[in-house]
Amino acid sequence: MSGPFDLSGKRALVTGANTGIGQAIAVGLAEAGAHVIAAGRRSCAETVEKANGRAEEMILDLADPVAAAGALPGDLDILVNNAGIIRRADSVDYTEADWDDVMDVNLKAVFLMCQAFGKAAIAAGRGGRIVNIASLLSFQGGIRVPAYTASKHGVAGLTKIFANEWAGQGINVNAVAPGYIATNNTEALRDDPERSKAILDRIPAGRWGDPADIAGAVTFLCTPAANYVTGAVLNVDGGWLAR
Ligand code: NAP
Repeated sequence: MSGPFDLSGKRALVTGANTGIGQAIAVGLAEAGAHVIAAGRRSCAETVEKANGRAEEMILDLADPVAAAGALPGDLDILVNNAGIIRRADSVDYTEADWDDVMDVNLKAVFLMCQAFGKAAIAAGRGGRIVNIASLLSFQGGIRVPAYTASKHGVAGLTKIFANEWAGQGINVNAVAPGYIATNNTEALRDDPERSKAILDRIPAGRWGDPADIAGAVTFLCTPAANYVTGAVLNVDGGWLAR
């Protein structure tokens, strides 16, 4: 296969690739021809199996963002910062520990991983692609998730500054903002009948998203078809933000 949607010969790393959206992204990139490093704080063996021989696993815990960025391979063409955590509590009760934990994984790690990727790509004179996984809460406030909202607003901002600084070096930096996707991350919402109904009632597509819905958009942004796309935050939300 060759053409504008082909990733043959490219090396990609996806964080949080053991489950959910990250697993679907890893499989999607592999299906497009890339060799994928499925990185997780636990084994990504299931992802490697689903990627049909086009993936290997790497243990990478983003709770220590400095160590994780230091371990990033220097020969990547594509980096997908997918891993993320959410902690829910009323803002008046929100603890500093929850704030720090969420910010470390969702924002500080994204900054340092992008920086390490950019440094290596620029030094090698090689272009590249970064896709950061943002959120509807990169645009909206949400409820009971102050650290998550702050971190995801930050991810959108970092995406734009890196895009500006590195476009001249052939490094495209974009983000995908998933709507409500059926994964571990949203289990609590889906288990709450009232919240679940309120959410579904507002989604024009009338269904929760599937991780594969996000994988398609991310894969596109990594292909030559998206050569002139940089600094974008692409909503993949079944129409939620348009409503
Ligand atoms: P998920 O199933 O909970 O997956 C999150 C991933 O991040 C898991 O692989 C998790 O690993 C990993 N992770 C968490 N802490 C980590 C750490 N310290 N080091 C390395 N990996 C870590 O949720 P998801 O829905 O697929 O989330 C993926 C991304 O999409 C996140 O950035 C999330 O904020 C974003 N997102 C999701 C939705 C949605 O509706 N689902 C909407 C908007 C944005 P473990 O399995 O070991 O915990």
